[in-house]
Formats: sequence, C-alpha cells, structure tokens
Amino acid sequence: MNENREPLPGAAPASADFRDLTLVEVEQLVANAGERSYRARQILHWVHARAAGSFDEMRDLPASLRNYLKQSFTIGHPVSSFVSRSSDGTRKLLIRLDDAEEIESVIIPTEKRMTLCMSSQVGCAMACEFCATARMGLHRNLTSSEMLSQILAARRELAVGEELTNFVFMGMGEPLANYPRLVRTLAIMTSEWGMGISPRRITVSTVGLVPMMERLLSETPVNLAVSLHATTNELRDRLAPINKRYPLEVLLDACRNLPIKRRSRITFEYVMLAGVNDSIADARRLVKLIGPLRGKVNLIFYNPLPDSPLRTSSRAAVEDFQAILKNGNLTATIRESRGLDIAAACGQLYAEQHIPA
Ligand code: SAH
Repeated sequence: MNENREPLPGAAPASADFRDLTLVEVEQLVANAGERSYRARQILHWVHARAAGSFDEMRDLPASLRNYLKQSFTIGHPVSSFVSRSSDGTRKLLIRLDDAEEIESVIIPTEKRMTLCMSSQVGCAMACEFCATARMGLHRNLTSSEMLSQILAARRELAVGEELTNFVFMGMGEPLANYPRLVRTLAIMTSEWGMGISPRRITVSTVGLVPMMERLLSETPVNLAVSLHATTNELRDRLAPINKRYPLEVLLDACRNLPIKRRSRITFEYVMLAGVNDSIADARRLVKLIGPLRGKVNLIFYNPLPDSPLRTSSRAAVEDFQAILKNGNLTATIRESRGLDIAAACGQLYAEQHIPA
C-alpha cells in the first residue's frame, strides 16, 4: 500500500479534479499506474456516463488502481445549488464553487428543446454596458470541471423524461477569454469517451475576440454566436468596449474569411435598445454588413438593469427592424425573454454573495 502513497510521475497535484482530464491524460495516468490502457475508457465511462461521485463506486477496477487515483484526484460535484423557478418554466441554478464563488446557469425549456445556458467565468471583464455580469468585473476563470458541473447540476433538476438537448455558452463570462479551458470542456462534452453530446447542439457566444474565434472554429465543429449589437464602430465602442481592440471591420472580415459552411452557421446577436441601435438606418446597415455573410440575426429584447438609462425597444420597433432584415434576405429571429421574473433572462446573471459565506 505504502508505495502507492507516493505520487507517481505524471500524477496531477493533490486533489485535482478528475473531471478535468481528457482521454489521452487518463491513458497516461493508467500507464503510470502500470495498468492496461482500456482502463482509461472504463474510468471515464464511470465519471461521465454514470456520473460516479467517487472512485470507490468503480467496482470493476482493481483496488490498487482506485487507490492510486484517489491519492491525486477528487471527482468534483457542485457543492450546493439553489434553484429558482420562473412561471414560464425557466429554472435558474446558483452553483457554489469550492472557493465560495458562485455562478449561475439557466435551464430553458421550449417546445422542442431543453436548453442549458452555461457560464464560462465568474464575472466578466468585457464591460458591455447593458450586461449585469459585467458589473461584477472578472473574478476568475472557471475550470473545465466547473463548467461541466453545471450540466450535472442541471440534470439533477430535470423531471423524469426531461433531457437537456442544447447547450449554449451564453451565461456569465466571455467563453473565448477562457479559451484553453473552454476547448477542453468542449472536448469532454463532445467526445464519445466523455459526454457524447453532438457539437451541433452546442453554441459558443462571443463578444468578438477575433483571434480566439478563428481558432475555435478551426479546432471544433461547435456553432458560433457573435454579439454584435451595433452597426457603427462609434456605438459598438460604447456598448461593447472590446470593439476598440477588434473593430467591426476586423470582426466581420474574420467571419467572411471562414469557409462558407462555417459562415452560414454564425448567429449574430443584437440586443434591441430603444433609440440607441433600433432605427431603420441601423437595420439597413445591418443588412449591408451581415448580408454577404449569410449568417442569421437574433434580435434580443434588452432586459433592463437597475440604474441603467438604457431602455428596451418596443415590440413594434423590434418587428419593424426584423421586417427590414427579412426584406434584405437575412434570416432574422426574435428571442423572447425567458425567466425575467427570476432574473434568469439574458444579461441578468449576477451571482455575488447570494448565499452567505
Ligand atoms: N460574453 C458572451 C456570452 C455571454 S452574453 C457574449 O458576449 O456573447 C450572452 C448574450 O446575452 C449576449 O448576446 C449578450 O449581448 C446578451 N445580453 C447581455 N446583457 C443583456 C441584457 N441586459 N439584455 C438582453 N441581452 C443581454
């Protein structure tokens, strides 16, 4: 037993979360432990398909291997989560992390889908004017296991017969500002040795970190959503200050240079702000900018933040705007607000000191 207490070469630092590991890494571990490589898939199956909470549950593994794994790893689970339910069926989860930071995830049922809106960071550094999470500032990046724990927490909340069908990184944080961990998370979500989720059911939403956006699309087949919100640099600089680093022409150029198949999958998100970005002229400019890309536009009602001078556009204004986009041959949908009564709607996620420490 005692030789097993020494961390073996290649072992992770004490108490790393096993959910962070990819197949290659687990195979390496298994080899270090002197076991055959098929054990790697066996362990990962326990972890992801069977949601095992401990190595002791993995009864078909040799005890020596279980002990070896236990020395260096835990299998993380969200420690506590608090659920609020909206009258429209939306459920918001508040998940407490090991360091007492908190994140929010939202389960959004629609007729055909059960979408999980996932967070990628605690807080956010992107400082978009209309977003509640921006007001927290960036506390820290989430690890992959923390991102994945949102799926586990959500699955626990589902009723019998309910199943998550779609996954969107549109919760707290800028996913592409946490790139290596995001890509690792996506690998675990989509691999057959992991969660086996189809990448077509996953959407990463970005404020437009151009280099990472290009990298993501070359490395993974997930869908991309780009938060655009403005048709001039002057306005976008104000609404989404990252525009000063990656202005509209750079952002759209990057989209234009993607292979057509990828391009046609891009969704441009556009938060409708009364008197700010919702004029007929804005709609026409949007047609010019997006038209050649063959992407889709998703118009989002602004969910007002406390003490914000911004107001949401009227339904009539949103519909007029949509009509111009459609006339310009763009696919344009309107995203209805869900979970407003529990502050679970877009841009309302703000998890700071909800639960006393
Ligand atoms: N950082 C990423 C993902 C998180 S934001 C991004 O910027 O895309 C996810 C979506 O919610 C974005 O399209 C964002 O513009 C939108 N959003 C943020 N605050 C909002 C608000 N107050 N009302 C409506 N939508 C909002």
